[in-house]
Amino acid sequence: MSGSALFDTYARMPLAFERGEGSWLVTADEVRYLDFAGGIAVNALGHGHPHLVAALTEQAGKLWHISNLYEIPGQKRLGERLAQVSFADRVFFANSGAEALEAGIKTARRYHHVNGRPERYRIITFEGAFHGRTLATIAAGGQKKYIEGFGPKVDGFDQVAFDDAAAAERAITPETAAILLEPIQGEGGVRGFSHATLKRLRALCDEHDLLLIFDEVQCGLGRTGRFFAHQWTEVTPDIAAVAKALGGGFPVGACLATEEAAAGMTAGVHGTTFGGNPLAMAVGNAVLDVVLEEGFLDQVAHKGLLLKQGLAAIADDFPDVIEGIRGEGLMIGLRCKVPNAMLQQALREEKLLSVPAGDNVLRLLPPLTVSEDEIRLALERIRAAAQDLSLGAGAAAR
Ligand SMILES: *Cc1c(COP(=O)(O)O)cnc(C)c1O
Repeated sequence: MSGSALFDTYARMPLAFERGEGSWLVTADEVRYLDFAGGIAVNALGHGHPHLVAALTEQAGKLWHISNLYEIPGQKRLGERLAQVSFADRVFFANSGAEALEAGIKTARRYHHVNGRPERYRIITFEGAFHGRTLATIAAGGQKKYIEGFGPKVDGFDQVAFDDAAAAERAITPETAAILLEPIQGEGGVRGFSHATLKRLRALCDEHDLLLIFDEVQCGLGRTGRFFAHQWTEVTPDIAAVAKALGGGFPVGACLATEEAAAGMTAGVHGTTFGGNPLAMAVGNAVLDVVLEEGFLDQVAHKGLLLKQGLAAIADDFPDVIEGIRGEGLMIGLRCKVPNAMLQQALREEKLLSVPAGDNVLRLLPPLTVSEDEIRLALERIRAAAQDLSLGAGAAAR
């Protein structure tokens, strides 16, 4: 007995919070933590953002759930707005990242089905990927630790080395339907695909009539300083999944597609009870009000640079703790020399929250609304933690 009625699926920290205020989380006894985890890139506008609170409470007084049997005006509006700022013409709303990916995978398979090539159902993915925890998305992610013990792996996913366009090309067969990737891997360790690889993969998809699917569940919605991470390149996908930040903390996901890619998703072939519900749509629209405000994304990019510069200086001073800095905008990874969990713990003692990732990386995912003063404070805390863990220069300086 673990002393809890809950599944033991999470190794939780012995830490609970009572409320949040912007970039801060506060415990019941008023201890304040600077939240650079953001619910894993979810609370993109921080905690308790007044515009989001107002949108949710206003909608809560009107209508919570109606089902997709009826028109949902907020859904239509959010879909149109997402299409307007992206490559997409069509949007399907879900409740989570994994569901958005499932919709994307099904959309790609149906595209070939309705185009007379039903044998095309396989999808090429990349090492280090994370696409969610459903049976299909664990197969897509290809990570043994998530697949093991859950019966036969869902068929239809072929994984190749990270950022390797030549390997992807070799993996294409007459059964290939699509190529799926995160432009910047999150769980995999804040690793970005090179522009050259993305361009090559786009060309391969065009050449072979494959669909290019981007998983922007973590890197999308302004996190990198552009609305989508792929907008740092000229490459556009045919299908993309977003979720995490889209609801600012309210569960919502979306699958975006071009008109052509969405051609097979006709009435009745896919659906969801909760997806696109009025509450989620009200909050999603409110998130876009803020993120699409003139200058907001430039601010994210600017604050990202400030944070990165400060971190580079700390890495220079404590190379035995931090080996390098990765990422774009406010999606930052610290490649650790010490175990990443050790740095995470040291930061937590300094009252700064972070999230571990693969490849011994520690992620910093502050709210996009973080202030420059809060970034400077975070840098002070990171320096103090690094100094604590450092055996060399840091110890001598103390
Ligand atoms: C979190 C995440 C998912 C899964 O999202 P859930 O909401 O947990 O289902 C999928 N892809 C990426 C890149 C993610 O970061």
